[in-house]
Amino acid sequence: TTPLTHDSAIIIVGGAGTIGSSTALHLCRRGYKNITLLDVYGFPSDYAMHGSSQSAGASDINKIVGSSNSGTRGEITEMTMDMWRNDPVFKDYYHEVGELSAAADSEHIADLRRSYEAKLSHPVKSKEIKWLSNREEIITHCPHLASGLIDGWQGIWNERAGWGAANDAVDSVGRELRRFGVKMVFGQGGTFDRPLLDDDTTRCIGVITKDGAKHYADRVVMATGAWSPSLIDLEGQCVSKCWIVAHLELSEEEAVRYKSIPVVYNEEVGFCFEPRFIPHHQPGKDRWIIKLCDEFPGYTRFMETQPFGAGQPIKVSVPRSHSAHPTDTVPEEGQHRLRRVVEVMLPEFKDREFVKSYMCWCTDTADAEWLFCQHPGHPGLYLATGDSGHSFVTLPSAGSQVVDLLEGKASAERMRKWAWRPGRGDPEHTGRGGEPPKDLGDLKGWAHGDDERAE
Ligand code: FAD
Repeated sequence: TTPLTHDSAIIIVGGAGTIGSSTALHLCRRGYKNITLLDVYGFPSDYAMHGSSQSAGASDINKIVGSSNSGTRGEITEMTMDMWRNDPVFKDYYHEVGELSAAADSEHIADLRRSYEAKLSHPVKSKEIKWLSNREEIITHCPHLASGLIDGWQGIWNERAGWGAANDAVDSVGRELRRFGVKMVFGQGGTFDRPLLDDDTTRCIGVITKDGAKHYADRVVMATGAWSPSLIDLEGQCVSKCWIVAHLELSEEEAVRYKSIPVVYNEEVGFCFEPRFIPHHQPGKDRWIIKLCDEFPGYTRFMETQPFGAGQPIKVSVPRSHSAHPTDTVPEEGQHRLRRVVEVMLPEFKDREFVKSYMCWCTDTADAEWLFCQHPGHPGLYLATGDSGHSFVTLPSAGSQVVDLLEGKASAERMRKWAWRPGRGDPEHTGRGGEPPKDLGDLKGWAHGDDERAE
């Protein structure tokens, strides 16, 4: 490929998503001047506006921002936290209400304890976290759990964590990119069809979009989240799965009582957030919404398709977006798990109907590490995916890692971790452990109005 300079043409496919928008932001901040974003939807993300099932960062009212992780992921999250608190693009969208990460099962408690102890040697982190070993200690930090079903819970209290207003934060990045003069193409014209290859059919020199247009570039970055394995043959390195989300509506009086509660996460049950005010342009239609999610191994949606690079159709788990299928809800069995989250964490609302429930997609690698690398067969084509369900928190900084990769500055250790690596890890469980995921094709109650296999 041609040497990378500040005038090189760089295309980011999926540029309105979490990792793509972050990559564009860091390219701009490092002085790159010729950047084009391609995406099916734009800023503000339509996926977000429709309450959506798109993978994620760009598509939700709140996401956990904090870290109980160690290793490279923990290091990156910690770098990120500084940007959430101080960077003008992000700081208005971060709410530091604290986070409880708890469990009741002895194995899960032991995992949490190991993670807690690993942090005790960290000079700063050790002062921000505390081990809570019983109900009373938990209620001191999370008084709203006093009526919750929390017997046997223990876990980590992290006072320097909270939630990010996901769609607003991504939109803030979008505004900053416009200020930098980044070119953006959305809709059919921004929808990736296949890479554009040089005459030798090896080197990637751009992208062909669904409208047939050719976009030339020196570097192409695929940051297409859960859609990545159905667009490019990743040789089984990423498996896309969805998880489910529900919204509870509160009255203003209720919202005042629950305002500023910490994020509560329990791996055996799920997680929930404080109520968020959702303004509406029509008077009287503003709402207060609590978002909650259950924890389970996720659902796949396997079907035959032929991504670029596959010699024939192969079985890939293909996302189905809520934007394209707004009547989709969640499988019946998922509704039961969501009700359980309310019973355990918010029992006051155990009989209240959800105002919305939907599915949201990400893509897991077998070892839960990113796939940030150059395509081994196509110089110039880069992958920035494999979010493994933990990448929204890195919105401020994930792109910096991608730009390090483009500039050849990423450390040898990170390049090894995030390398093209078919066969490494545990493909059956794709990074999560536990039961293998069920397939949506075998479940009832989620597809309404059209063929459940349609995209
Ligand atoms: P996305 O943000 O989905 O971006 C992909 C982009 O690619 C989209 O904009 C899409 O429009 C675009 N695209 C797709 N196909 C094409 C095409 N053909 N051409 C052009 N563009 C295309 N993470 C956390 O850190 N904290 C949390 O609390 C958290 N909670 C979660 C809860 C749920 C229910 C789920 C499902 C995920 C959660 N995550 C959380 C994970 C997090 O949201 C994801 O890891 C992250 O947002 C993925 O970012 P991405 O850039 O890879 O994908």
